[in-house]
Amino acid sequence: MAELSKSKQQMREETERLVKEAIERKAVSVKQGNTRIEAICGKCGAPNRVSASPGQVRVEYRCKECGHAQRTM
Ligand SMILES: [Zn+2]
Repeated sequence: MAELSKSKQQMREETERLVKEAIERKAVSVKQGNTRIEAICGKCGAPNRVSASPGQVRVEYRCKECGHAQRTM
């Protein structure tokens, strides 16, 4: 019984470790690659997913719904 609860504890720790590692990997990949900005079109209000270089805030894009060219804010 004591062994069983110990192995459960170990499994939980293992799971937590894997989740933590996955989150760290994801954070690194976001830092290295382009970031995604959720931009709302100023003309028609459609959500647009815009890819931006790290540190880039105002990105030029064209709305996928109405074709209006603009920048993210
Ligand atoms: Zn639009």
